[in-house]
Amino acid sequence: MAGIYVHIPFCRQKCTYCDFTSFPNRLAFAEAYMACLYKELEMRGKELEKAKKDVVFDTVYFGGGTPSVIDPKLIYGAMNQIKQHFALSKDPEITIEMNPGTVSEQKIETYLKAGIDRFSIGLQTAIDAQLENLGRIHHVRDYLYCTSLLKGQNFSADVMLGLKGQTKEDVEKTIKIAAASGASHISMYALTPEDGTPIYTDYLNGELPSPDEVASLYDFGRELLKTEGFSRYEVSNFAKKGKESRHNLNYWRRGEYLGFGVSASSFFFGRRFTNTFDLDEYMKCVISGFYPVIESEEVAEQDAKFEMLMLALRTSEGISSRKYREVFQSDWKEDFKEAYQKTKKYLHEAGDRTSIKDEFLYVQNQILTEYME
Ligand code: SF4
Repeated sequence: MAGIYVHIPFCRQKCTYCDFTSFPNRLAFAEAYMACLYKELEMRGKELEKAKKDVVFDTVYFGGGTPSVIDPKLIYGAMNQIKQHFALSKDPEITIEMNPGTVSEQKIETYLKAGIDRFSIGLQTAIDAQLENLGRIHHVRDYLYCTSLLKGQNFSADVMLGLKGQTKEDVEKTIKIAAASGASHISMYALTPEDGTPIYTDYLNGELPSPDEVASLYDFGRELLKTEGFSRYEVSNFAKKGKESRHNLNYWRRGEYLGFGVSASSFFFGRRFTNTFDLDEYMKCVISGFYPVIESEEVAEQDAKFEMLMLALRTSEGISSRKYREVFQSDWKEDFKEAYQKTKKYLHEAGDRTSIKDEFLYVQNQILTEYME
């Protein structure tokens, strides 16, 4: 099984921490962009057909940017293209990211008609002053309105840590609001102040919580999520039973996926490839009948081994020795003997599987540096 990712790069305004590929002033191009995206989907679909590559796609994910900022009919059209050109599984998981400041009843109706059955909502924090500092266009009341429209649906809420002035009480309020709204999944990420973004100035001025303070907010949030009935299945992701994101699990299990749209990346045909980050170049390429790919590389075996290990150890299910052996005909504990011996004390072993012990999952990056050769 594989996944499809569709990138919608438009936003109302640029958030102060954002370094994603998103264009706040180009919304007028949405229709033209989506026409190109439909064409890219068709090109790739025909290529698979020609190569007789029978792949079943189990997930589709509309991310951004802000997919919910454009006319929902354009999302409906993209789903039609996907259904026409790719084989979807019987019960695919189809997710759309939504910004609470851009939602309406009519949009949700159209998404449901398109087959979308999972919604990922960017709450970030339940403190309006912090939303303002992040440059978000929504208020907490918009999140509540949005989730009232999603009653009975499967949705996830994003929560951000490391915000200016953020306290444990703020994290508690945010998680409780997300849980009470009916979210079945919560992603809890730490803000990364990237150089060149406006929030980087706050970071340089020492106005953001220190890494230790963020770690303490994370531990606090993790415990609270547990009491609210969410289990951690990846370092930043928590879900009610059976509500884990299949799309993300596919990434972490090193499954294949195809990415469409500006800046989208893919792992398919044994290669990793990435589309151009330039919106105009993307459209020109596709209109001329070329793939908008700017980078493409075959993954060397040693890199593939490390990738599998690194991705699997992000998750609580960890790495399966059997699966590793099936793919590489070798034992990962032998391939990474020295690193394994050094990090053994942080690992939990159960039968075929090895994972990072729960209390060390937050520092998995530091543990994994031992495995980089
Ligand atoms: S909504 Fe998301 S993609 Fe858009 S500017 Fe904000 S952080 Fe960036």
